[in-house]
Amino acid sequence: MQIKLDTNIQFLKGVGPKMSVKLEKLGVETVRDLIFYFPRGYNDYTQITKIRDLVSMEYEARSMEGKTIRAKIVNIKNKRTSRRRFTITEAVVADETGSIKVVWFNQPYLEKMLKAGREIILNGKVRRSSYSSELQLESPNRAEKSKIVPVYPETLGISSYYISKLQKAVSSQLGDVREYIPDVILKNNQLLPIQEAIKQLHEPENSEKLEKARQRMAFDELFLFSLQKQLLKKDILIRSSPKIEIDEDFLKKFAKSLPFKLTGAQKKAAWSIIKDLNSDKPMNRLLNGDVGSGKTVVAAMAAALVVKSGLRVALMAPTEILTLQHYETLKRILPSFSISVGLVSGSKKELVDAEVVVGTHALISGKTIQKNLGLVIIDEQHRFGVQQREKLLQTKTSRRPHFLSMTATPIPRTMSLVVFADLDVSVIDEMPRNRKKTITKVIAGDSRRSAYNFIQKEIGKGHQAFVICPLIEEQERASGKLEIFEEDRKAVLHEYKKLNEEIFPDAKIAMLHGKMKSGEKEKVMADFRAKKFDILVSTSVVEVGVDIPEATIMMIENADRFGLAQLHQFRGRVGRSDLQSYCLLFSSSMSENARKRLGYMENIHSGFELAEKDLKLRGPGVLYGYKQSGFWDFQFASLSDKIMIEKATEAAKTIAYEIEKYPLILKKISDRSKHLE
Ligand code: ADP
Ligand code: MG
Repeated sequence: MQIKLDTNIQFLKGVGPKMSVKLEKLGVETVRDLIFYFPRGYNDYTQITKIRDLVSMEYEARSMEGKTIRAKIVNIKNKRTSRRRFTITEAVVADETGSIKVVWFNQPYLEKMLKAGREIILNGKVRRSSYSSELQLESPNRAEKSKIVPVYPETLGISSYYISKLQKAVSSQLGDVREYIPDVILKNNQLLPIQEAIKQLHEPENSEKLEKARQRMAFDELFLFSLQKQLLKKDILIRSSPKIEIDEDFLKKFAKSLPFKLTGAQKKAAWSIIKDLNSDKPMNRLLNGDVGSGKTVVAAMAAALVVKSGLRVALMAPTEILTLQHYETLKRILPSFSISVGLVSGSKKELVDAEVVVGTHALISGKTIQKNLGLVIIDEQHRFGVQQREKLLQTKTSRRPHFLSMTATPIPRTMSLVVFADLDVSVIDEMPRNRKKTITKVIAGDSRRSAYNFIQKEIGKGHQAFVICPLIEEQERASGKLEIFEEDRKAVLHEYKKLNEEIFPDAKIAMLHGKMKSGEKEKVMADFRAKKFDILVSTSVVEVGVDIPEATIMMIENADRFGLAQLHQFRGRVGRSDLQSYCLLFSSSMSENARKRLGYMENIHSGFELAEKDLKLRGPGVLYGYKQSGFWDFQFASLSDKIMIEKATEAAKTIAYEIEKYPLILKKISDRSKHLE
């Protein structure tokens, strides 16, 4: 049978019906899919280390990647362990500089395969044997030739070796893969042609060529992602939106009615929004400001202006608590301008037909909401998917509501260039004047007592404290399992008991965790705000947005388990009035890295700076503590590669203008979004 790119994988030699089902689960259905299924990493057998140097590296080696040696087998034999029944294969190998012991577990066939005198290449880690305290190379990988070997993800019982073999079988089809990036772009950015890049990824000739291939793929990822955003933007711009008149008298009256003066940054952001609204092109703007910078009131101003022109506004937030809080804030501000405010959440519905409706994602399932919408506001937009956003923006007519997105998540500039390529961005980079910096201290085990005394004193003054106890790794949380809430509950309960019975027996303490019903949560928050409690023990539910002006203490247990951006969010829950506030980071981790990270919290008070630090230290996944498809899940592209990001974005812009001319790129994009869904 003639193999083509579109040939189903089951017709390849060595792939039966069983394997093809497994491969399908990896997204590999056709020969083309296989060719675009890339290794997750490589074992580099080209950088040879002499055994003498290997031995002197021992202590370093513990934490290092494996090292590669080229050596002759001096002797090799199998041993059976007496207690547990498994086989250890022990060998001594030598090069011209020295010799070292090698051990493999449960691979008895090696004794026959690797005869004395044979030269082999081994890649592994050096350890000190727990029995003899001799240095040995443990379970190293073997190679015949000094080359770079691709490692494919080993899942569903498909070995990396098996995929490698399939790749070799289809490599003759590579020539049929068509280049989709125009020549000029390839030349300007010194990129490998797609066929060459793919070839190098599956069978790297050397590390330089592999690096070039990775660069090409990184470019493609950024380019396609960015282009998709540009096209989205272009699509939006050909739609029309209701032009909202600027009523300056009304805006002045609005500003005067507030109990505070707007900051310069708030005014500037408000003005950009108002100007956007005053156009028949849809607004598509992101309002990015640190926690406590006062985004809500800016949004309220825009909402009021839209309602004054006869249209309705929807505001969607990611959690019940936050939704309720927005609802209360808007109810304090808007009714004095005869603007009605409604609420739609999972558990509560009030005035669904109001002029401004606040809600959770329950807003999208409601039917009446979309009628006559002039403006859609989404708080913490990245917690929703693009589909959810578009659903809220859908109308029966060709007119599209204006769109305002808000986030307190500090997104580094390089990243925002790609991730928010479809949005105009306003940054509120100034805090309200009355704010004091929250004094932040890392508390090691031995100062716990004095920290508790300090909290006791603050409570004595009538101030309030948050206690956050994370027990659950964020990664587990992302898997969305319900049992996590049960674990949360246990952690909170345990801490609650400890504080209530041992540490602060006289204080009034409340609990908040994910296992509670939303009605219960609301009641606890309302009571805490009404000062019925001194201390609120909580999981990360309070992370976003919660506004309790008289809380002055944020105490976080196991602080090292959180990303800096997240800790900064917690810290933003206090210091929201003119009272001096404190953030106490409890950590029993003595690791250098943890101490360094938490140390940044003591000295850095800008969310953006902290995000940059965390990005460098731990990568984007950890930075945001959750995964969102398409948010930043690239295999090759790196956030720190500013130059590449800029180049790819630039290229995407030029192509977006005349995308009709590039059917192959369009095809690539539509395949890509199908994959993401
Ligand atoms: P965020 O940007 O985190 O959403 P909020 O909008 O919740 O911040 O505002 C935080 C607190 O600051 C609120 O209590 C709000 O009333 C208050 N606030 C907003 N703007 C100002 C200002 N210009 N001066 C003083 N306080 C303000
Ligand atoms: Mg907010």
